Amino acid sequence: MKKIKIKSLFSGARVAYHLLQLRKNQWKSPQELQKIQLTKLKAIVHYAYGNVPYYCKLFDSVKFKPDDLKSLSDIRKIPITTKKDVRANYPEIVSKGTDNSKHKVFYTSGSTGIPLTIIRDQKALDYSLALKAYAFMACGVKVTDKFITVAQSEESLLPNKSSFNAAAETETIIDYLRQAKPDVLYTYGNILAGIAACDVSGIHPRLIFSQGIKLSRHFRDLVKSAFGLEVFDTYGSIEFSRLAFECKAHSGLHMITDCAVMEFLNDGEPVPPGEPGHIVVTSLYNSSMPLIRYALNDIGVLSEEVCSCGRSWPLIKSIEGRYVDFFTMPSGKKINPGILYFPINKETRENIFCISQFQIVQMQKDKIVLNIVKGREFNPEIITRLKKGVGKSFTDIREDVSVDVRIVSEIQKERTGKIRTMISLVK
Ligand SMILES: [Zn+2]
Repeated sequence: MKKIKIKSLFSGARVAYHLLQLRKNQWKSPQELQKIQLTKLKAIVHYAYGNVPYYCKLFDSVKFKPDDLKSLSDIRKIPITTKKDVRANYPEIVSKGTDNSKHKVFYTSGSTGIPLTIIRDQKALDYSLALKAYAFMACGVKVTDKFITVAQSEESLLPNKSSFNAAAETETIIDYLRQAKPDVLYTYGNILAGIAACDVSGIHPRLIFSQGIKLSRHFRDLVKSAFGLEVFDTYGSIEFSRLAFECKAHSGLHMITDCAVMEFLNDGEPVPPGEPGHIVVTSLYNSSMPLIRYALNDIGVLSEEVCSCGRSWPLIKSIEGRYVDFFTMPSGKKINPGILYFPINKETRENIFCISQFQIVQMQKDKIVLNIVKGREFNPEIITRLKKGVGKSFTDIREDVSVDVRIVSEIQKERTGKIRTMISLVK
C-alpha cells in the first residue's frame, strides 16, 4: 500500500514537472526549441544503441554510430522503421530487461492490418499525461470542466471525466450528451459532423476537440453552425500519444517538438512546406520501447506560417489521412483524394445542412463513387453539381475517371467508431 502511494507521488511530481516545462518551453525561440530537441534526440539514440538489440543491429547495418548525430538533419542517416519491422522484430525492439508486467502495453487498433504491441514505462506514461494536459489547457480546458470523450477513453488528469462508445448510433450519442452536459467534448471528426447535422438543443459545450480523421472544412462548418464554436483539431497516435494540437488561433496544428521529431518525407527526402509528405516520427521520451524514424502511414502538410499566438512550436497545415487511402489513377499516378474535398466543400458551403456525411470510394482506377447521407435540408440538385464538380477535378489533372453519387442511409463506422472518408478498393 505504502509502495503504491510513494509510486503515485513520484508520478504526480513528474507530471507536474513536465507540464511546467512544456508551458515554459512553448514561448522559447525556434533555435532554443531545436537545441532542446537535439539534446533529447542524442540521448534516445545513444540509449537505443546500447539497450535495444533491434536498433543496435540496424545502426550497425548502415555503419551509423550515435556520435554521428551532430545536427537534427543527421537523423536521416538512420533507416526508417515501418509497422511491419516492429512486428517482425518484437521483442528485440523492446529495451533489454523490460518487464512487461510492470509496464503498460498498448495495442494499435489494427484497422490497417494486424495489431501492434507498444510498451510504455511509467516515466513515459507520466510524460504522455503531461503532454495531453498541456495541449488541452493551451486551448482553455480547466481542471473543473466536465470532460466527455466519445471514443476510447484515455488517461487524463481531469477528475470530472467520462467516456461513451463512439460506435453507438448518433441519436444515442446525442441523448447521452444531453444528459451528461459536457463543458468539453472530445471525439472523432465524423462523430462531430454526425451530431452537428442533427438537433443539438440542450447540448452546450464550451470547447470541442476532434481527433482521428481529417477534419474537412465541411465538418468544421457543420460544427460551427450547430454549436457556434470552432473545433480544435488534435493529432497523435497510439504509438506516440499526443504529437500536435491546434491552438486558439486555429492556424494549423502545433508540433510539440519537446516530445518528438516529426519528419515529412517524399521518397526519403524532406518535402517543402505546402506539399504533402509521409509522416515519420521519433519519440523522445519512451526508453522502454524507443521508436526511431517510425513511419506512421499518415500524410501531412507542413506550414511556413508563424502562429499569431506567439508559440514557436512549428505548424502542420493539415493532416491529409492515411497513405494507403491514396488513389492510383488510370495513368499510374498516385493522387491525394483530398483534392476532391474542394468541390465537395464548395457545394456544402452554400447549404451546409444539405448533406450530413460523405465518403469517397475509388471502385476502380477509373471509377469513383461518392456516398452521401442526406442532411435535414437535402436538395437533390446537389447530386448533379457534385458529379460535375468532382468530375472536373479529374479533368483538371488529365485523368479519365467517371464519378457516381449514391445516397446511403449511413456511412459504416469502423469498430472504433471512426469512419474512413476516403477509401480505395484498387489493389
Ligand atoms: Zn498558435
